[in-house]
Amino acid sequence: MYDIVIIGAGTAGLSAAIYGVRAGKTVLILESGMFGGQIVNSRCIENYPGIPKISGYEFSKQLYDQAVSLGAEYRSTRAANLLKKDGSFTVLTEEGKEELSAKTVIVAAGAKHRTLGVPGEEKLKGQGVSYCAACDGAFFRNQEVAVVGGGSTALSDAAVLSDYCKKVYLIHRRDTFRGEAKLVDTLKEKENVEFVLNSRITAIHGEEAVESVTVENVSIGGTKELPVQGVFVAVGQVPDNQMAAGLVELDDMGYIISGEDCKTSCPGIFAAGDCRTKEVRQLVTAASDGAVAALAACEFMI
Ligand code: NAP
Repeated sequence: MYDIVIIGAGTAGLSAAIYGVRAGKTVLILESGMFGGQIVNSRCIENYPGIPKISGYEFSKQLYDQAVSLGAEYRSTRAANLLKKDGSFTVLTEEGKEELSAKTVIVAAGAKHRTLGVPGEEKLKGQGVSYCAACDGAFFRNQEVAVVGGGSTALSDAAVLSDYCKKVYLIHRRDTFRGEAKLVDTLKEKENVEFVLNSRITAIHGEEAVESVTVENVSIGGTKELPVQGVFVAVGQVPDNQMAAGLVELDDMGYIISGEDCKTSCPGIFAAGDCRTKEVRQLVTAASDGAVAALAACEFMI
């Protein structure tokens, strides 16, 4: 029986592990993919207090090493279901291979990329359609690409791609941006970046690889074709909290309903990071959630 089982090894989960083991608890982290979560794909982090500049991978690796060297156990497996049994919890791993017992559980499962849901997107995934500019951008050197979205991810993806792509179309469904104003200003100064506003992609074309996209202007109507070889989709995330859905309340979007205390509707289960309802989804708030959730779990066990 572990004191704390943490589902997800992103910034929130790894921070929770550090606080858990330092409080003398036995901690197991479960992760279905690579440690680090979404930030692992960021080329450069410049807004984490005390660290002026670091790559997402380096940041995640240091966090992982810190948690494991302090004594957290780490296992590469997917948590498929969460059950409550006689005052403790059972985490069933992928395909019911294992049943792990825990006094408390911290869900820090993050979120995954939202898709556009347009014709051609699924077929051309990995053949020009990408959800990670930092991972795939270099394949499009000197080519023309589209970035979709108006949040900070889309804006910083467009900035990164403009360094080595011939042309970057930034396609956004409105004419104002949700993302950082400073990033918008940076993009306006780039000669190879074209803003395609009040517009949405309705289809992605290509046989073996992306060749073009159809873009519809949603305010004045009409469509046009843009000849691009890459489409970078950056339209936000959706959470993956199904493993906990039987025990904790989720909102309409699937986020775990929780306040800043990281408590959920089920005593003993805590939610940390992007998987829970919250106003600000940043690296620093994910780390903060990890600390809050772990200390709340420790208090629960007293
Ligand atoms: P986001 O802020 O939720 O923005 C998603 C964008 O995609 C919005 O502009 C939205 O349009 C658009 N969108 C959503 N669904 C769409 C659809 N079906 N078709 C077309 N467009 C669609 O997501 P994000 O940019 O990934 O950022 C997530 C969080 O990470 C934010 O809190 C952000 O500040 C943070 N972040 C921070 C940094 C940094 O610290 N430098 C970098 C990246 C991200 P509307 O605006 O019209 O809704």
